[in-house]
Order: sequence, then structure tokens, then C-alpha cells
Amino acid sequence: MTEPQASQPQAAPQRIPTPRSVVQRLQYDPQADIERAAQDAEAFWLEQAKTFVWTKEPGQALKWDRPHHTWFADGETNITLNALDRYAKGEARTRAALIWITEDEQAHIYTYGTLHDRVERFAAGLQSIDVKKGDRVIIYMPLTPEGVIAMLACARIGAVHSVVYAGLGAGALRDRIEDAGAKVVITADVGYRRGKLVDLYAIAAEAIQELVGVDYLVLHERITNLHREHDSRTVDFQELMKQGKAEAVPVNAEDPLFILYTSGSTGKPKGVVHTHGGYMVGTSYHMKALYDVHPGDVFFCTSDIGWIVGHSYIVYGPLVSGSTIMFREGAPDFPDTGVLWRLIEKFGVNVLFTAPTTLRMFMKLGEQVLKPYDLSTLRVVACAGEALNPEAWRWAQEHLGGGTGEGAHAVVIDNWWQTELGAPTIGTHPRWDAKPGYAGKPLAGVDADVVDEQGNPVPVGQQGYLVIRKPFPSMMRGIHGNPEKYAAVWNENPAGYTSGDLAMKDEHGYISILGRSDDVLSVAGHRIGSADVEDALVSHPAVAEAAVIGVPDSIKGEAIHAYVILRRGFEGQVGRGLRASIIEHVRHILGPIGTPAAIEVVESLPKTRSGKIMRRVLRAQAMGQDPGDLTTLEG
Ligand code: AMP
Repeated sequence: MTEPQASQPQAAPQRIPTPRSVVQRLQYDPQADIERAAQDAEAFWLEQAKTFVWTKEPGQALKWDRPHHTWFADGETNITLNALDRYAKGEARTRAALIWITEDEQAHIYTYGTLHDRVERFAAGLQSIDVKKGDRVIIYMPLTPEGVIAMLACARIGAVHSVVYAGLGAGALRDRIEDAGAKVVITADVGYRRGKLVDLYAIAAEAIQELVGVDYLVLHERITNLHREHDSRTVDFQELMKQGKAEAVPVNAEDPLFILYTSGSTGKPKGVVHTHGGYMVGTSYHMKALYDVHPGDVFFCTSDIGWIVGHSYIVYGPLVSGSTIMFREGAPDFPDTGVLWRLIEKFGVNVLFTAPTTLRMFMKLGEQVLKPYDLSTLRVVACAGEALNPEAWRWAQEHLGGGTGEGAHAVVIDNWWQTELGAPTIGTHPRWDAKPGYAGKPLAGVDADVVDEQGNPVPVGQQGYLVIRKPFPSMMRGIHGNPEKYAAVWNENPAGYTSGDLAMKDEHGYISILGRSDDVLSVAGHRIGSADVEDALVSHPAVAEAAVIGVPDSIKGEAIHAYVILRRGFEGQVGRGLRASIIEHVRHILGPIGTPAAIEVVESLPKTRSGKIMRRVLRAQAMGQDPGDLTTLEG
């Protein structure tokens, strides 16, 4: 871990009570849960678990042998029995499960009955190409119902899905397919972004070119015969739908449900493993308790299935709780800046889950963009994934929530979690006072703290490391193929699981997230390892060495700034398209989110005597600050 880098804590802002007019609209009061969990967290989670459908009900909660933990390990179920069968086979059969909106604003509604049918069929299709329990399947799909169907179909037969965000490039996709040891890749011909087609099939075909372990490339054609040349392993998505229907395969609660790759501080992708049982219980609990979403509500989540928020709150959380989830392909300001707000009005959305970057974008555009729309059906606006700065909170509370007075109809809440944690961990419940700049308090059943390197709690108002002392059900069970890395996150700090974030606590137990303590960047809430971008840069023929840092960006939180040392002979090409060529190269490997906003050509990089690049010095230089202690700097 590098030394703390985060910005200094701000002066303590006030706590702002949720207006009574909003509290009256809330449906769930978690106070009893909080008290029960404080008394006995394991019993609390087991009681929650017993409200689900199990083929064998668990009698056991946590088994804990640090760093390993299991939950409900004597239980047997399949998450799709809970997400689909129990609704599709009952009165809720005709309830809307998915409302999918295309980029050009067409709405497609899938009831629980329809979704169940599609998943049963695609699951049988996967079986017909020999996908079995435990096999890994990569899903590289645009944000469409077929992406959701593919995830659920894998789960149904006990296969392990690994969704790769369809904005990532061929190199990042190949690394993930290889690391997962996937035998099948599912993709679509195209995705839509700002009216343009993104050729996903070409990227997927390039990624698997030399991968002999991949047996099939499943292609969902949105445009008939767009691709004339197919990789010989290609099979048609719709053909696979014609192979009959598959029942849910009962699996142990601890069997893996998915692997989701995220960035760590080293270049290798980190495949976070989640399970059927604990993940199901943990994610759906927060649907009611934190987000206050209930059957009959419309819940609009603006994330993507490529991220943990999409797994938990587009797919599993909403469906396991029997709610109606709305999601949309495309950018939030395209085809015009009114699209999100028009959809909220049109569908009477009750709860919106979005990213601070999106709120900041609209804050910059100005509230006149929202004015024409009736947003009064909203009751909760939840934000996660990156820091929700006080200005953005205030703006959103005023313009999406109706202010802080008694006329308000909604409350804006922050919540903090990670791919590794599966579900909200620290948050501000809608009934709790908001404290802008603070994510909130540990939620029911969570034991989190801010500590020093020795694991001792740091005093109120001081910066420390955010740790979780004891496991909870939706936490990851491992890192695929890398037990050492998994053990390290539990062993690095004696107090517990190390989140990699720096934080500060106030006298009421509210926690403010101050930034990362490692070399991980956050661009529009997406985690990108500095090392991933540096590896991509040095794979360009002109680049000898590279270092990247995050510089503050008023909308995206951070932007990537790259420093490169050129190989001999390339110096003359600066100014002749070399920077653009390097940027394009990185974009091809990592996709748009890993692409540097700026490239600076330098003669040397600040390094320690042991040769490690001191990004802290680059950061200080970029921001005109004092670089601090330079005693380890190479002479
Ligand atoms: P990911 O695993 O991609 O969801 O990224 C998790 C990281 O995003 C955390 O370790 C934090 O650095 C950051 N993050 C997530 N939620 C918040 C939040 N509410 N406030 C501040 N940072 C957050």
C-alpha cells in the first residue's frame, strides 16, 4: 500500500434531516433489523435467508476461518428459483420484470412469465453446446434483455458467468477470457452509443482469435446478417433458444454464481468470485431496507450489467425481490438531455439509482433541463460508485428531491461498496439525516471501521484505512485463480478486510470516503488500475516507459493523465500524430474508459532508488502542490 494520497478532510458539514413529507412516503423502517443485527449479526442474516426459496433450507449462518468464510453452507438453492420461478409460477406471472429502453426510447417490457420462459430456453441452449455446472462463460453484451437472459441462464444451470463491460477493448476482453478459462463467449453484433454502432462481434472475434480453449462464440444478431465473415466457432443466439427448456439446477449456497473482473493495483485482472446463496440474501435485503424498493414500484438503474451495480441492482437484487427494473442502453444525455427525466415521468419511476458523475453532468447543464418534467413519483435517489460531493448532493436534493423542506418528495442518499462486497456496506438510509460529503454509517449486519496500519481505530476526524472486521453474506469468497491475492486483502491489516480506501469518521459514526490508498484510479466511478493503463501504453512501439496519474475532473471525478518516455528515434514524431496514435492504441486495448485524457512526453520519470515510479510526485507536480518527502527519490 502506498502512503495516503487523498485530499484533506473538509470542514464538517451539517447533518440534514430527511423532510417529514419524504419519510411519510417510505415503506420500510430498518430500525428493528439494525438492532437485531447489532445483537447477533449471524442470527439476523440466517433469519433473512430463511425468507427465500431453498431446495434444502440452511441451518447454518457463518463459518469463519480467516480469510475464508462461508454462509448458509448446508443450504441448497439456485438464485433463479428465487429471481424467476417463484414469481413466474404464481400470481406475479404478469408483473413487469424488465422495462428495457433502447437508445431511441422504444420501451420493451418483459413480464416475469416471459423472462422465465426466455431464460429456461437459453439455459437449455447453453446445455446443448455442452455448458455444464462450474463452466465459465464470458458475456460481452450491450445493455439488452439478452444480456440479462444470458446471465440468468448461466446461473440456472450452475455455470459461472463473467460479464465483461462492452466498452472494454479486445485486449482487456482477451485477458479476462483467458484468466477465467472460459469455454464460451456470448456477444452481440453491435451495441449503440450516441447513435453510432459499436461492432462488438469484431472485438470479440479478435479477442478469441488465438484462444484455443474457447469452443463457441454465441452471437445475438440485432441487425440481420451484418457480419458476412464469421469465426468458425460462431453459433446463433436465437437458434440456441430452440433447444427446449431447462429446469434450475440446485446448487450449494456456496457454489460460485459469477466472476466479475475489477482493477487492482497490479496489471493482472482480478476476478472477484460471488456465490448463489450469500449474494442473493445480501443484495436483495438492501432493495427494501436501503433503497426502499417494493413490488409494484418502478426502479430505474442507470448502471450497466458490466459493473457490480448492474449485477446487483439491474439483475439479481430487483428480480429476486420481485420488483420491476427499468434500464436503458445508451448515454444519459443522448439523443437529448431530457431523456432520463422524460422516462421517469412517463413510467412513474419511484426509485432512481445513478452515479455522481451523471448528477454532476446535469448540474453543469443546469436545472432547466429537468424543469419540463414531473419527477414527483421519485421517493429515493441513490448514488454509489464514487464520492458524491456536497455540491452535487445539494443540487440533486433541490432539483430531483424537491429541496430540504416539507414540500420535498424524494431524498438523495449516498452508499459505499465495492465489486468485492456485492452490496451496500456503508450508506445513509433514507430515514437517516444526510451528511453531505459523508457516505453514511455501516448498514445492518456490517462491522466496519477506520483504523491505522496496526488496526487500531483512529480518532474522530482523522484519516485512516477503511476496513471491515467481519464477513457478511454478499462479500466475495475469493479471487479466481489467485488465493494469495484474496488472502492479502484479509491479512494486510490486522483489523480485517482492507478496502483500499481512505476514510474518516465523525462523532456520530458517519464515514467520509477520502479516496484510494493504492494506485487505482476512479474515472466516472469506474475503477482502473494505473498499471493497466501503463502496460497498455508501453505496448505501443514508440513508448519506452510510462506512468499515469488521476487528476481531478469536475464531472468524472478523475481524468487519466499519462507521462511517457519515448523510445529512441520516435522523438521527431511528436506533433505528427504520435500522441493520437498512442491514445488510439490504448483505446483499442482497454476501451474508452481506460483512455488517457492527456499524454505528456517527458525525458525522465521520478523514481525511488529501487526503481518504483513515484506517482505521488507526478500528482503533486500536476496540481502545483508540494511533493512532500523526497528522500527516497532517485538522485
Ligand atoms: P467498484 O468495485 O468498481 O464498485 O469500485 C469501488 C470503489 O469505488 C471503492 O473502493 C471506492 O473507492 C469507490 N466508491 C464506491 N462507492 C463510493 C461512495 N459512495 N463514495 C466514495 N467512493 C465510492
